[in-house]
Amino acid sequence: MKKSNVCLINLPQQKNYAIVSPHRIVYGLNASESELNGLIKEEKERAVKTGEPKAESDRVHSQSASIGLIPTFDCNLRCIYCYARGGETKKTMSLETAKSAIEAIVNMRDNRCNKLDIYLVGGGEPLLSFELICNTITFAKSLCKTVDVHVVTNGAFGTDVLEWLITNKVDVRISYDGLMHNTQRPFAIQGRLNSRKTVKENIKALISKNIPVTVQCIVADDGLFSLQQTIDEIIAMGVKILKLEPVLATDISRATKEMEPNPIKYAGALLNIMEHVAELGVDLKIDTGYFAEPSDEDYCGITHNNKTITPDGLVTACVEVAKETDPYAKPIIFGKLEGKRITTNQERLKLLESLHYSNQAECAKCNLRFICQGGCPMANIWRSRFPPKKSSFTCAVGHKLIPSLLLKIAENPKLANVVFNDNANIKTC
Ligand code: SF4
Ligand code: SF4
Repeated sequence: MKKSNVCLINLPQQKNYAIVSPHRIVYGLNASESELNGLIKEEKERAVKTGEPKAESDRVHSQSASIGLIPTFDCNLRCIYCYARGGETKKTMSLETAKSAIEAIVNMRDNRCNKLDIYLVGGGEPLLSFELICNTITFAKSLCKTVDVHVVTNGAFGTDVLEWLITNKVDVRISYDGLMHNTQRPFAIQGRLNSRKTVKENIKALISKNIPVTVQCIVADDGLFSLQQTIDEIIAMGVKILKLEPVLATDISRATKEMEPNPIKYAGALLNIMEHVAELGVDLKIDTGYFAEPSDEDYCGITHNNKTITPDGLVTACVEVAKETDPYAKPIIFGKLEGKRITTNQERLKLLESLHYSNQAECAKCNLRFICQGGCPMANIWRSRFPPKKSSFTCAVGHKLIPSLLLKIAENPKLANVVFNDNANIKTC
């Protein structure tokens, strides 16, 4: 048995424990030493008997494929923390590049794929290249039986785009910063400052047509005080999934260190708003990026899965590094489109594989690792260079948040509905 497959986490207050293994949490609340030892033994034996549960990514249909496209680096907003300095370069993907990328991914397997997921992402605002997107999706549908479209957008689009998103049942992630929106996400055109009104109207219009909308909210230090009011506003709009992210200053972002929230205060604010949502009993899932269903997979697919095509036809494993001149282009940009084929650099792929948290010395032996998963690998790289170490920000949030939230979930099952998907495997003994 691999000792590392079962972790014991001490929860706040004495004698409270969580025994965590991939896809499973077992609680020992007010447990005596012998009860705790019994639970650990049981979990270790179970891990041997059942083996590791199959990861979701292993179960996907063998004839399905996914690809990300960055249609443009241009942007109609100038968010004060933008990770990509969107709009400062206007480079836009050609239709030829977009079609070649689709053909390359559809024909990549021995069996041509019959289900394709296309992710339209930035930085840059993807929906600014509306004509390119319409033509690309039409082309993808001519090659592949099922095409599901997902977009990450700033939400500042007009009625033509809105109607297309509804007609094509696009899965939409919209950035909306609540009470801080106008300060944090101004329009690029001077004098046109109010993007909040447009974004809110678009979110409500999509929800009214049953389009799945995830709202992404970026939290800066001076926005912590208004987080609960922002959540209440998001609930009132009927949003079902909220992704929260702290501002992160990187080598290429517009954010500065001063904008980053204090990690301990940030973790405290996350705990408060999750309890607030549970108390209200509303149907809202919150993804904090710091508390996931336990897993021994990598944090985000950067080690093996991610393929996003840039406007220049490069293939990147992370949207934060999308230009050849960006820091860490090696190894993050690991391939390029050549004709209708994707060619990859094997040396860079090997370096990407090494970004699993088990290769970070402190994370490898940390008892929170199945839930924290070492945090965002790119955030670790921005902080500690290459090869990455754990990020002090992520680690501070993880240690403050995870044990407290685990105990609160055990005491209040309604909180589990805010944090996990419905089929999470949680047992209290
Ligand atoms: S964060 Fe997004 S919307 Fe804002 S400037 Fe960057 S690319 Fe544009
Ligand atoms: S970042 Fe910190 S809390 Fe997270 S797995 Fe690594 S050591 Fe543990």
